[in-house]
Amino acid sequence: MIPARYAASRFPGKLMQDLGGKTVILRTYQAALETGLFDRVFVVTDSNIIFNEIKNNGGDVIRSIKDHDCGSDRIAEAVEDMDVDIVVNVQGDEPFTNKEGLEEVLGVFYKEDAHRIDLASLMTEITDWKEISDPNCVKVIVDKNNFALYFSRSPIPFPRDKNTGVKYYKHKGIYAFRKDALMDFYRLPMRKLEAAEKIECIRYLEYGKNIKMAETTSQGIEIDTPEDLARAKKLISEEAESPLVNDTFKNFPMVPKVVFGKGCFNQLETILSPQRKSKAPFIYIVDDVFKDNSGLINRIPLKFNDKLIFVSTNEEPKTSQVDEMVSLIKKEYMHIPSGIIGIGGGSILDLAKAVSIMLTNNGSAADYQGWDLVKNKAVYHVGIPTISGTGAEVSRTCVLTGPDKKLGINSDFTPFDQVILDPDLTIGVPCNQWFYTGMDCYIHCIESLNGTFLNAFSQSYGEKAFDLCKEIFFEGNCNEAESRAKLMMASWHGGMSIAYSQVGVAHALSYGLAYVLGTKHGIGNCIVFGHLEEFYPEGVRMFKEMVKKHDIVLPKEICKDLTETQMETMIDIALGLEPLWENAIGENWKETITRKKLRDLYLKM
Ligand code: NAD
Ligand code: ZN
Repeated sequence: MIPARYAASRFPGKLMQDLGGKTVILRTYQAALETGLFDRVFVVTDSNIIFNEIKNNGGDVIRSIKDHDCGSDRIAEAVEDMDVDIVVNVQGDEPFTNKEGLEEVLGVFYKEDAHRIDLASLMTEITDWKEISDPNCVKVIVDKNNFALYFSRSPIPFPRDKNTGVKYYKHKGIYAFRKDALMDFYRLPMRKLEAAEKIECIRYLEYGKNIKMAETTSQGIEIDTPEDLARAKKLISEEAESPLVNDTFKNFPMVPKVVFGKGCFNQLETILSPQRKSKAPFIYIVDDVFKDNSGLINRIPLKFNDKLIFVSTNEEPKTSQVDEMVSLIKKEYMHIPSGIIGIGGGSILDLAKAVSIMLTNNGSAADYQGWDLVKNKAVYHVGIPTISGTGAEVSRTCVLTGPDKKLGINSDFTPFDQVILDPDLTIGVPCNQWFYTGMDCYIHCIESLNGTFLNAFSQSYGEKAFDLCKEIFFEGNCNEAESRAKLMMASWHGGMSIAYSQVGVAHALSYGLAYVLGTKHGIGNCIVFGHLEEFYPEGVRMFKEMVKKHDIVLPKEICKDLTETQMETMIDIALGLEPLWENAIGENWKETITRKKLRDLYLKM
């Protein structure tokens, strides 16, 4: 929670001052988000100007209704009806808020004396006497366990003799409250010491509360005066000249928890119950192919106000569908759900990921199609595949068809928090569908292993998935228990392989088919792949043998009757997937991949 007042006595309007192209308050908000430490981040304000500033930049902002003397009262009003454990108060004038300091403050709630702590705050050592004696700088003294003894604008302790060896600490305006403590303090009247010093946290001491101080070395700059703003501007322009960010290598998250084995679906209740927040439901998004399958439905542990939503997968997920589901959930429940659980194939898994993201991010899902556009952490989400091959259970993306593109929401918040791999759930998949989705995995391997982005990481997963696919599709069939378990793992490995590389030509072309004709991913890939000998000669030869072995009949001449506009759109969609082409062909792909080339390929399909 970032309490933000427009009027500040010492520097009016300071939060709306420009700091390197963004306002101070927007920078603070974004810095808090970027730490990745919070489930939600809100600005709480009574000012229209600040409200609009955050809203117009896609952020979360709450209007506080009442007049408040201090920031904590303002956030207490905002969280009164929220289901939260710990509330952190980040000052609006701290645009350089960084992760390290906040981690320190939150960390105290996990140590052995945590039960004694009502709230926690931060301090940093200062050595410059000018700062020590500056009344704008609040000093704090602590006991041997770092519990605060007193805060003051005077230098404390007063050094009677020089060289006492005592250290001075500056208090930083970041607090972490247990919600109970915060609500306790709300409306407690101000007492004399606080009134004299004009330091909010003295009130807690006056009422006998324990404030644990964590120490940080990061200084940051609070914007208290126009001089501070000038210093901050200088710092930002220096940072822009020598960016500290080094993101040459992708640092991507993996699914943190996975359970595997025949029948492990029965463990769902045990897995979910620690994640349940009171009053907040679990929402199950389930493929409607299971509507009459009581064997599966009766094993879903519905409790309290949990909800089951059946979704048809006749068409692949759309951004508009995600938006509708999110708005229905928000309308029906006061609380953000405890979790979203997707049970189905790639379509349902992607839908579940997208819904969990959009419950905590404003706007339309279409705004987030692309790489790293998601701002807030998603709601806890669980993936339970019932057909294998796409790798959607492990990937960092969820593919959606939007108003003007088919593209995934690719972000660090997309992967599932938990995956349940129960091969028995794939019993009953029709054999042709088993083949199409399985071939998605096979094609992921071929595209990854033959791509220019290949590296040892991708190769190790890709080769294993490729070998499994060979075993499954040359030796096994869709009704064997062994094939089910193997394909489940092949899908996982295939997904991991493309995580650190990319897919290629087949996917680029099949996205075009999907966008214009609605051709589904698995079968679309198969239709395309048979025509890609010039790119993947050995892979295509093997693919054709597998088609034959499993008596698969693929549609032909599907692009024959396209209108000119449809053909042009299809080519636009395919060419738009630049990373895929770059992986398949190399940096200079534009020299060989022309519009005419794609048209000829589509006409062969
Ligand atoms: P799907 O989810 O559309 O399911 C295919 C068909 O199988 C559906 O008719 C479904 O009802 C049926 N089905 C699923 N489980 C069944 C079961 N146990 N018994 C009987 N029928 C069952 O298809 P898919 O191939 O799994 O997924 C395709 C989707 O995945 C596409 O939308 C594609 O864009 C997406 N995808 C995502 C990623 C990713 O990384 N996120 C990767 C590849 C594909
Ligand atoms: Zn795919």
